[in-house]
Amino acid sequence: MVKEGKNYTKEEWLVEGQKLFGDDYTKYRFKCPKCGNVASGQDFKDAGQNPNAMYCECIGRHVSGKGCDWAAYGLFDICTVHVDGQPVFEFAPVE
Ligand SMILES: [Zn+2]
Repeated sequence: MVKEGKNYTKEEWLVEGQKLFGDDYTKYRFKCPKCGNVASGQDFKDAGQNPNAMYCECIGRHVSGKGCDWAAYGLFDICTVHVDGQPVFEFAPVE
């Protein structure tokens, strides 16, 4: 079954990310599908985390006060974006 929302191949997704944010991964921003919080690669670095987690983990897992600890790889998939079938958070470009 094809999921609703956006489906990218890994290559398409990386191209899209680069189009939106450029080469600096600390400037990439993703939105948690559960709480809507937006976090950047820099936010993950600041929290002492691997910035690679930014597209699959809510920053609330790593900082207090967000009230959310969602992860895209958990039991339930509520993500609207999938890359090669894997759920990821959606891009959150600066308006
Ligand atoms: Zn969240």
